[in-house]
Amino acid sequence: MAVPIRADLVTVPDLNIPATAPDAVLLNSNEGPLPPPPGVVEAIARAALDGHRYPQWFSDTLVGRLAADLAVPESRIAVGCGSTSLCRDLIQAFCGPGDEVVCAWRSFDAYPVFARVAGVGVRTVPLDAEHRHDLRAMLDAVTPATRVVFVCNPNNPTGTAVRRRELLDFLDRLPERVLVVLDEAYREFVDDPEVPDGLGLVRDRPNVAVVRTFSKAYGLAGVRIGYCVAAPSVVSAVHKVSVPFAVSRLAQAAALAALDRPEEARQRAAAVVRERNRLYARLTRGGHPATPSQANFVWMPLAGRAADFADFCARHGVLVRAFPGDGVRVTVGLPEENDAFLSAAARYRAQAGPAEGAA
Ligand code: PMP
Repeated sequence: MAVPIRADLVTVPDLNIPATAPDAVLLNSNEGPLPPPPGVVEAIARAALDGHRYPQWFSDTLVGRLAADLAVPESRIAVGCGSTSLCRDLIQAFCGPGDEVVCAWRSFDAYPVFARVAGVGVRTVPLDAEHRHDLRAMLDAVTPATRVVFVCNPNNPTGTAVRRRELLDFLDRLPERVLVVLDEAYREFVDDPEVPDGLGLVRDRPNVAVVRTFSKAYGLAGVRIGYCVAAPSVVSAVHKVSVPFAVSRLAQAAALAALDRPEEARQRAAAVVRERNRLYARLTRGGHPATPSQANFVWMPLAGRAADFADFCARHGVLVRAFPGDGVRVTVGLPEENDAFLSAAARYRAQAGPAEGAA
């Protein structure tokens, strides 16, 4: 007889594992389109020479470097094995049985899964008609059981972003005992000056934790490293629950080398933003539904056609991420990859006709 797993895990959905195919254009995982630059690869190789030694317990060297770069005290920074693991650690550290997490839906699908794995309740609050966080409704969803609220800014998968005024208003009204996790995985692609930099909020608000990652703008998704900036008490709590040595020597060395090349990261992010804006303009001009984005992807609210559209693109060599019944998320790739996607999308529209909600 198989050993029975924890009863409440039976109904927890598996996280969606992105498809891959040998020669396909991969626009389904919000990765950076370019490999890490040479200096970063060499730093990883150098770190591998000490691969027989455990890494630093709390990635102290990287914490020191981030503290200097971001002008934040070291006591306010925790490093994790990708920001995914930090989201999980924050739930683990602040929620117990009977507690609840609030998040938007659709948003990053790991939030509700992590909550349920921790045995914690989840309240999901639908995005508004423009695919944005409905912060008023999220406030209404907060109960005495709420311990953590996720605000994904910009939001995965819709690319929409919360602006300064509405975020401050939300934070002012939220009980101070509730931790707000401001997930800024896509921060480097924001070009709307009204979208606040979460780091500016952390200093005066002990209930705000910002999480960021090297996976997107720095092109290190396969290396697994991210960080959290928050009150020292939040950082200590994360340290209590994090898996020891989860951040490898290789990951820390890669992040440090990437930080040594800020201009490279800036230029790469700027190129993605240019391509994103071109992709959005071409899609809307071509009569496809698309949502203005602040991230490295574009959301197409295709509703009932989402799965069909994604299947069609896959048959034409381009993998995009379908959320069946809801929409399709298209990661911004290199110009030629985006052109391959645009041509598949044009063919789809020519054979299937305009989608409901199309411009
Ligand atoms: N937050 C959001 C909103 C994301 O979309 C992702 C990755 N898809 C992450 C966090 C996690 O990124 P990583 O673990 O690679 O740092």
